Amino acid sequence: MWERIIQAIFPDRCLGCHAFGALLCPTCVATCPAYHGAMPHLGVTAMHVQFVYAGAIRQAILLLKYAGKRRIAPLLAQYMPAIFPHQRVCYVAIPAAPARVAHRGYDQAVLLAQALAVRHGGWVSHQLVRVRNTPTQAKLTRVARHANVRGAFAWQGHAVGDPVVLVDDVCTTGATLHEATAVLRDAGMTRIAVQVVARGLVDC
Ligand SMILES: [Zn+2]
Repeated sequence: MWERIIQAIFPDRCLGCHAFGALLCPTCVATCPAYHGAMPHLGVTAMHVQFVYAGAIRQAILLLKYAGKRRIAPLLAQYMPAIFPHQRVCYVAIPAAPARVAHRGYDQAVLLAQALAVRHGGWVSHQLVRVRNTPTQAKLTRVARHANVRGAFAWQGHAVGDPVVLVDDVCTTGATLHEATAVLRDAGMTRIAVQVVARGLVDC
């Protein structure tokens, strides 16, 4: 109810064109560049990146991450296809550092995984956990990023059924995804896909 009252007083405006109605209007999403570049070599069954990390999509992800706008997760999921259509997929989020989750009150990648599971008919496993805090990757070179995330994740419990879709909001070099997919493989999973909202361009 509060959500509706707040909406009536402060209606959403599109991050791209500032039109009232929604945080992201379909017209602005249509102008966001789709990602057609190379994918990091992860040795997975499938990998899908929807957008280039720019413009209204970048704004949306920043709000989802840093401004408490949880509603952006299902909005973004609307534009992400089912990688294994007609199958009951297990979605696994790349977990953020526990301190960050405690500070924000949520993990944006988990919200995305939940939104994708609802949208495409799947379920979410929380068995991939971060076991080591890592400094933020943003200012590191490609080589340093791989070293930075080594041993950062662990899988708890039994392997989950095929297929598994690993979800994250943004990837750049793919170092984090590389580490996480290795952990899933070590845990016994074989059909692994990776689904990311946007890829940032890296020059290192
Ligand atoms: Zn717009």
